[in-house]
Amino acid sequence: MCWYGREKCKNEDKFIHIERLYKDTGFAATALLCIFVKKTRMILLDGRATAAQIQEELKAAVQLRKDAGQKIPHLAAILVGNDGGSVSYVTSKVKACEAIGFESTLIRYDETVPEDILLEKVESLNQDRSIDGFIVQLPLPKHIDELKITQAIDPKKDVDGFHPRNIGNMILNLPGFLPATPAGILELMRRNEIPTEGKNCLIIGRSNIVGTPLSIMLGRNSNPGNCTVTLAHSKTRNLKTICKEADIIIAAIGKPNFVTADMVKDGVVIIDVGTTRVEDSSRERGWRLVGDVHFDEVAPKASFITPVPGGVGPMTIASLMMNTLKAMELKGK
Ligand code: NAP
Repeated sequence: MCWYGREKCKNEDKFIHIERLYKDTGFAATALLCIFVKKTRMILLDGRATAAQIQEELKAAVQLRKDAGQKIPHLAAILVGNDGGSVSYVTSKVKACEAIGFESTLIRYDETVPEDILLEKVESLNQDRSIDGFIVQLPLPKHIDELKITQAIDPKKDVDGFHPRNIGNMILNLPGFLPATPAGILELMRRNEIPTEGKNCLIIGRSNIVGTPLSIMLGRNSNPGNCTVTLAHSKTRNLKTICKEADIIIAAIGKPNFVTADMVKDGVVIIDVGTTRVEDSSRERGWRLVGDVHFDEVAPKASFITPVPGGVGPMTIASLMMNTLKAMELKGK
C-alpha cells in the first residue's frame, strides 16, 4: 500500500487516498488503517517495466539519429560454447538491440576455441569502425584467461565496463563505462525514488562484476549513494546480525533462497541479483530461475523488493544498451 499521494505512488493498485478515507470513515478507522498500511506496504521493483521505459527512450534516440541520417549504434557479442545461461543472456541482449533499433552482431565459437583466436577476434572488433561497443560473454572456458581477454578490449568499446581502465575511472568517479549490472541497479533505485542517503546498505557477494563495484557506487557522494556500505562474503561472520541492521540488502551470491525472513528487519529494501537455475519438472524446460532471497517469506517485511526473474536482469540489459548508445556518441566527438 502507498499513502504518499497519487503523484508519488508507483503502484495504482496500492494507492489509498487518505483525505477521502478520512471523510468516509472518520479519524479512528483512518488512523488504524494507516498503521496497518505502514506495516504492510511493499512495492515490487519491476525491473521489466523500468527497462521497457528505458527501451522506449533509447528507441526515440535511435529514431532521431535515423531522421538526421546519422549512424545507428552497433553492438557485437562474442559467445563461446553452449552454456544454457550464457546463450539465453546473449539472446536477450540481441533481442533488446532489435527492439530498440540498434544493429547487432553475434559471433559464436565452439568451447574449444584457442585463446589466441579469441584475442585476434577482440582485436579485429577493436579496429572495426562499424562496431561501437562489444562484449565477451562470461564465464569463458577454463583454458582461456578471462582477465587477458577483458584487458584486450578497447576501453572505449568496453560497454560491459569490465576493463581495468573503466573500473579505475569508476572508482575515481571519472567518465567511463559503468559495469552493466551495478549501473542497472542504481538506475532502478533512481527511477523508483528509493531513498539511499545515510542508509545502512549491505551487499552480500564481492564479485568484480557486481558486489565490489556496487559497494563503491553506493558509498560515493551521489544519489543514489551516500550509503554506509558493508560488503559481505563467504568469510563474513555473524551475517544474520549484519543483515538485521541493514536498511538495504543487495544479494549477489548465487545461492537460491539464501536470505530468509528471520534475517531482515521490517521495511527493508531488497535487491535480489541472484539467478540460479533450479530443477522444476512442472515447467516445460525443466527448470526455473530462483533468486538469492526467499521472496515469499521476505516480501511481506520489505518496503521494496525485486522479483526474480523480472528485477535486476532486464535492468542489466537496459544499461548495456545505454552504454552502447554512449559508446557511439563518444566516438562521434
Ligand atoms: P560470484 O562470482 O558467483 O561470487 C559469489 C560471491 O558470493 C562471492 O563473493 C562469495 O564470497 C559470496 N558468497 C558465496 N557464498 C556466500 C555465503 N554463504 N555468505 C556470504 N557470501 C557468500 O558472484 P556474481 O558473479 O556476482 O554472481 C552472483 C549471482 O548473481 C549469481 O547467481 C549470478 O548468476 C547472478 N548475476 C545476475 C546478474 C543479472 O543481471 N541478474 C548479473 C550478474 C550476476 P567469496 O568472495 O568469499 O567467495
